[in-house]
Amino acid sequence: MEFNTIGIIGAGIMGSGIVQVCAAAGHEVVLVDVTDAAVRKGIAAIGSSLDRAVSKGKLSAVDAASTLERIRGTTDYASLSRCGLVIEAATENPEIKRRILEQVDAIVGPDAIIATNTSSLSITKLAAEISRPDRFIGMHFFNPVPAMALVEVIRGLQTSDITHERVKALAIRLGKTSVAVKNSPGFAVNRILCPMLNEAIFVLQEGLTSAEEIDAGMKLGCNHPIGPLALADMIGLDTLLSVLETFYEGFSDPKYRPAPLLKEMVDAGRLGRKTGRGFYEYTET
Ligand code: NAD
Repeated sequence: MEFNTIGIIGAGIMGSGIVQVCAAAGHEVVLVDVTDAAVRKGIAAIGSSLDRAVSKGKLSAVDAASTLERIRGTTDYASLSRCGLVIEAATENPEIKRRILEQVDAIVGPDAIIATNTSSLSITKLAAEISRPDRFIGMHFFNPVPAMALVEVIRGLQTSDITHERVKALAIRLGKTSVAVKNSPGFAVNRILCPMLNEAIFVLQEGLTSAEEIDAGMKLGCNHPIGPLALADMIGLDTLLSVLETFYEGFSDPKYRPAPLLKEMVDAGRLGRKTGRGFYEYTET
């Protein structure tokens, strides 16, 4: 199998989901985060997700156990040395990503591909900072990764055809459908989605109606499966703010300015589901 061992950086919402789908497809996976606690939390989230799949009859207990056995969590970047592909899924912050990519670039073999799950940062710009810009690509999964069928595959200006083909083939092996998108802030889906979520926050901030009614309105009136504020909580309000700031700077267009209420929520540490409180409260994080 191509990419026998895949490395994933970041054990948060997205990293843990990407680890799960890669391991379920038969790949050995090395999961790296900065602290043991973060690694443990990510692996526990994968365990709970696999348990839910077993209890719903979607997965056998044997397959769930063998999926978990293929995952190795660590805080040591050197463990990535044998990975043919590393997917970076750490915090949406350009400086953090730059440092991570530099470390990964120095550790993996010369033929390895490095991908990023960034929601909004320039693939071309990130590629320019490593020694293998032709083997760098955006692989943008959607949340929750095991359930969502799409992967946006984003080529930077430097990405080679072979890198693009190999990553598209992997997406298929993971049971996903890929769409090819050119590099631009937010690519295609988030460029459309995030301004809508931001507008919902403006509507709440202006007191036009309640969070529950905004969400009910979009579910019942537009047939969305989840309301925009509940979705913002699921994405993580810090991540959404970062994405909107990238649009605002990247396009120099005031239509992307983040709602002040979103900034206020992030300043208060109300980041959504992952901290137990965002526009709604959650008992299980
Ligand atoms: P998260 O906050 O849930 O998790 C981020 C993880 O990265 C944390 O566990 C953190 O400890 C870890 N991390 C930070 N610095 C690190 C480092 N130097 N080395 C290793 N790990 C490090 O964030 P998330 O929602 O999983 O987002 C991760 C990436 O995926 C971001 O680029 C985000 O834009 C993108 N993304 C998010 C969503 C979403 O819905 N949340 C969807 C698609 C893409």
